[in-house]
Amino acid sequence: EYVNVGELFNYILNRFDMIIANDDKPEKYYTIKREIPKVQIWVELDTSKFTQVIDNIMNNAIKYSPDGGVVTARMIDNQKEVVLSITDQGLGIPKKDLGHIFDRFFRVDKARSRAQGGTGLGLAISKEIIERFGGQIWVESAEGQGSTFSISLPYEPYDPTDDEWDDGEWDD
Ligand code: ATP
Ligand code: MG
Repeated sequence: EYVNVGELFNYILNRFDMIIANDDKPEKYYTIKREIPKVQIWVELDTSKFTQVIDNIMNNAIKYSPDGGVVTARMIDNQKEVVLSITDQGLGIPKKDLGHIFDRFFRVDKARSRAQGGTGLGLAISKEIIERFGGQIWVESAEGQGSTFSISLPYEPYDPTDDEWDDGEWDD
């Protein structure tokens, strides 16, 4: 289906804001900063699968930021593709592990990750989903400083209110 990707991104982030509002553990406080322009970009994707990807990246950003901090969600329109990114100020990922982060069951430093819980499947599944949409997912990270996960999605100009986009059938 065609979805307004900025609107969907905001909707998913709203749920994380609600979790923060209801959290009673102040040591886990983090704030979400949004840099999402109010542009209408329509991308053909599966809403629930896309939500699963953003949920995992957001959960990781929070889970691997033990001291809380700022999580920044950005959307950039590059014409023909839109890039969504999520930046945290958490543990970061060691250089030697960056090439494995999207592998099934891979977790940085088993001891470090064990306390957090999880299977190590989240990013492998995310990569499969995004590639099925024709997009790409990648990470930039510095150990001890934080990580940025980015997703690019191709799109064609589309306006659901424009009759030109009818499927060619005459309706009378
Ligand atoms: P699951 O998502 O299945 O619950 P998981 O979070 O461990 O488990 P992935 O989401 O695939 O699995 O992430 C793989 C590993 O990459 C994590 O275990 C963690 O070591 C590392 N990682 C992922 N995101 C971050 C991040 N934002 N900061 C630091 N390390 C990260
Ligand atoms: Mg995960």
